[in-house]
Amino acid sequence: MLSLLLGGGWLLIYARHRRAAYLPEGRIVSADVESLGMPGKPLFSKKFQLVGQPDYLIATRAGLIPVEVKSSKTPPHPYPSHVLQLAAYCLLVEETEGHSPPYGFIKYPDRMFQVPYTLDLRHTLLETLDAMRADLIDLAEVHRNHNETRRCLVCGYRGSCGEALV
Ligand code: SF4
Repeated sequence: MLSLLLGGGWLLIYARHRRAAYLPEGRIVSADVESLGMPGKPLFSKKFQLVGQPDYLIATRAGLIPVEVKSSKTPPHPYPSHVLQLAAYCLLVEETEGHSPPYGFIKYPDRMFQVPYTLDLRHTLLETLDAMRADLIDLAEVHRNHNETRRCLVCGYRGSCGEALV
């Protein structure tokens, strides 16, 4: 009985959360969101030496779809860096599930964008990963490439970055 009640309570939280987050149709498989209390394991690709966890993974008829939630001001088009981050999650789903998601979602406060995971995007992602690895190997200096205060405000590297805007 207790477990039934607890289960019912969790379902209620789940349903409320879904409505509040305006997520795409499908079953939430994992959520890197504290309020939902169902963290999934980070996705890992040995081949690409990549690890990460999208805010949500949704099981849909099209397969597992990653959803990344951004709190920055809603732009007319998703920021290229956010698109690449989503593409990395698509690559990780591809690696762990054995087939590519056809698209993923980037959700800003006022709008959600469906981003096709195309061969071109995959190629750009792999080129970017190669360039980042080359920078690390060369110990090349990498500088801030934006002037977005809000980005720095929520950045996990702010304490050690040295170029943070806030
Ligand atoms: S704090 Fe540094 S690493 Fe983080 S977004 Fe700002 S400039 Fe980039």
